Amino acid sequence: MTDKNDQKQQDLNAEHKAKMQQQQAEVRERVRAAKEKRGTLIVITGNGKGKSTSGFGTITRALGYDLKTAVVQYVKGTWPCGERDLLQKMGVPFHVMGTGFTWDTQDREKDIAAAKDAWEASKKFLQDPDIHVLLLDELTYMLTYEYLDLDEVLEALANRPENMTVVVTGRGAHPRLVELADTVSEVQAVKHAFEAGIKARKGVDW
Ligand code: ATP
Ligand code: MG
Repeated sequence: MTDKNDQKQQDLNAEHKAKMQQQQAEVRERVRAAKEKRGTLIVITGNGKGKSTSGFGTITRALGYDLKTAVVQYVKGTWPCGERDLLQKMGVPFHVMGTGFTWDTQDREKDIAAAKDAWEASKKFLQDPDIHVLLLDELTYMLTYEYLDLDEVLEALANRPENMTVVVTGRGAHPRLVELADTVSEVQAVKHAFEAGIKARKGVDW
């Protein structure tokens, strides 16, 4: 009985090893095949939680290697934000649109002016070849509300310095932004605590 079990375990181990060797060869081949070295345009969209935290995660990843970063926050400037407080303390350049939620301000002209200011700051960052990662948090809404000119934004993103990676977050990414991007992830809302009546938490949700 035990011998039979031992044999079965040995067979499973051998099978696993063969599979892993095959997988390793495939991964190595794909890593070898990727030759291009440049920054990318990453879009994190969808209705689930995790878009801005992913963008800020990439900023902190770059900071871990002492690389230069910058952040522009569209829309939620009047909200507290843990990452903003931390990164500003670390000297990361930060531009905040600062009008709060569209449904609170109810002033389209003011929102557009603030969006344009934030875009001017973004354009400056997009021309700085020393920036390794630039986060344009919640930029997608500026394009869907047509607060910013889509062609101008796409052109500036496309013409950024070669080594700069830009992370754009926000729901409902425009199809042309998706087309231009190198990496696009859609965060799906399988569940969200808020739907069950659980309050958003400091240090977790903002
Ligand atoms: P986070 O900043 O936590 O990564 P996010 O950037 O993906 O979230 P946003 O649409 O920018 O999501 O919304 C920001 C706030 O709304 C966060 O506090 C987040 O927890 C909350 N939120 C995100 N998705 C949902 C959802 N599906 N239902 C309710 N609240 C949500
Ligand atoms: Mg967000």
